[in-house]
Amino acid sequence: MIEIIDLTKKYGRFTAVENLNLVINKGELFTIVGPNGAGKTTLVRVLCGSLKPTEGTIKVGGYDITKDPIKAKSILGYLPEEPNLYERLTPGELLAFFAKLYGVKNPERRIKDLLEMVGLRERMDSKISTFSKGMRQRLMIVRSIIHDPEILVLDEPTFGLDPGTAISVRNFVFEQKRKKTILLCTHNMQEAEMLCDRIGVLNNGRLVAVGKPDDLKNVVKENGVENPTLDDVFVHFVGGG
Ligand code: ATP
Repeated sequence: MIEIIDLTKKYGRFTAVENLNLVINKGELFTIVGPNGAGKTTLVRVLCGSLKPTEGTIKVGGYDITKDPIKAKSILGYLPEEPNLYERLTPGELLAFFAKLYGVKNPERRIKDLLEMVGLRERMDSKISTFSKGMRQRLMIVRSIIHDPEILVLDEPTFGLDPGTAISVRNFVFEQKRKKTILLCTHNMQEAEMLCDRIGVLNNGRLVAVGKPDDLKNVVKENGVENPTLDDVFVHFVGGG
């Protein structure tokens, strides 16, 4: 479970996230959508403890990310928007480091199994500097779940990937559904619809709509749009259509 209570994040005088309240239930896949600059990455960075909230509280699996960061981070897997990997290492070396950090039991087996799952088993001993963007993204996914976290936060997991790689990443996320509590940020409304239980629309740092995709479409339908898609939902709550 993720609980976000009265969260505000300011950069100097600029408010990027304003008085946000949200509960994501255990086993739920919640998607955040919103235009560029809406505050999605800021929200996930605060949620994962890489930025401090200006005001408010975040609890991850019951642990306060500010007061109890070690426990909170031990059950949290974070896939950031940009891959940040140690280029000079191999996946085997990188993952062994993180497995040790998290105290993973039987790390060799888990590393091999996860690399197999994302199709990188053959490249386990290649330098990461030789990897393509899609391969880096797959490796980042493995890094974020090496400790089998009960909560996953994924910021644009398929951005910039070829369609085949994007499908395998989506399939991976789909397989994690119910097993984990997942917060996913995306610009891809089809992806949101395919994967999520509920969707939240963030605009100017505020959650302007929260609900199941069909419920949000019904709101748009009541406002005169026939057979609305999630793109219509986005335009209705954010503008720009
Ligand atoms: P995108 O969809 O383009 O990735 P986003 O919804 O993830 O956007 P954020 O990156 O969270 O948006 O940015 C929200 C707002 O906060 C933007 O106006 C951005 O310029 C501002 N912002 C982000 N990081 C900083 C920072 N370090 N200092 C000042 N302002 C920042």
